[in-house]
Amino acid sequence: MLRFASLASGSKGNCLVAEADGTRVLIDCGLHLRDTERRLARLGLEPSDLAGILVTHEHGDHACGVFDFAAAHRVPVYLTYGTLVALEAEGRVVLGAKTVIVTGRECFRVDGMEVWPFTVPHDAREPVQFVVSDGNWRLGVLTDIGAPTLHVEQTLSGLDALVLECNYDLDLLWGGAYPKWLKERIAGPFGHLDNRQSELLLGALDRSRMQHVICAHLSQQNNRPDLARAALARAMGCEPGWIGLATQDDGFAWRSLL
Ligand SMILES: [Zn+2]
Ligand SMILES: [Zn+2]
Repeated sequence: MLRFASLASGSKGNCLVAEADGTRVLIDCGLHLRDTERRLARLGLEPSDLAGILVTHEHGDHACGVFDFAAAHRVPVYLTYGTLVALEAEGRVVLGAKTVIVTGRECFRVDGMEVWPFTVPHDAREPVQFVVSDGNWRLGVLTDIGAPTLHVEQTLSGLDALVLECNYDLDLLWGGAYPKWLKERIAGPFGHLDNRQSELLLGALDRSRMQHVICAHLSQQNNRPDLARAALARAMGCEPGWIGLATQDDGFAWRSLL
C-alpha cells in the first residue's frame, strides 16, 4: 500500500509525507520543528514513525526545518551533495544529524520504499524531485521547476499519483504587485511552473494509471485554486472537483493507492 498526505504546501513552507509498506518519509520540511510535529499529529503520526527526510533543494520553504527535525528525532536526511553544501553555507546543517548523499541518477531504498530522485531546472544548487514507490504503485512529486524537460516527462509518465506545482497564473503574476525582477525570476526557465505549463506537462504524460492529481505550491498572491484546478482538469478530461488541492495551512489529507 502507498499513501501520502501534505502538512503544508506553498511559498511559506512545504512538507509532504509518503508511506510505502509501512515505511514513512517526509519529502521536504519547510516548517519549524513544533509546527511540523503539530501537523504530523494531525495526520495521526509521531516523529518516531519517520524513517527519513528526502530534501529536494535548499530553499527555505523546503529545507528550513530539515536539520532541526532530523537532529531532534534522529531521522536521516537524504539530499544531493549540492543541496548539502548550500545548506552548510547557510549554517543550516546541524552537526550529528545523519546525512545520506543521493544523486539525480540513482534509485535508492529507505527500508520498504523505493525512491527515484530526478533532476530538474530550478535556481538552486543541485535540485531534484522524487518519485516514490512500494514496488507496485508510484507517486511523483514535482514542484519548484522552471520548465518541464523531456527527462521530467519521461520520469512522470505512467504514475499512479502526482502532486504537481501550479505556482501562478501568468496574467495574475504580470498584473500583480511583485517587483519586475521577481516576476521575471518566477516566470523564468529556473523559476516555477504556471497553470498553463502544468496543464501541458500533465497532458503530455501517460495518464492511463493516474488515480490522484493534486495541484500544489500555489502562490497566494498570483494564483487561485479554481484556476489551477481548472487547468489540470482540462489535461485530465475530468471535473475540476476531482483535482486535489494542497494548501498552505492544511496541506491535504491522506490519499491511498490500494
Ligand atoms: Zn518552493
Ligand atoms: Zn525553490
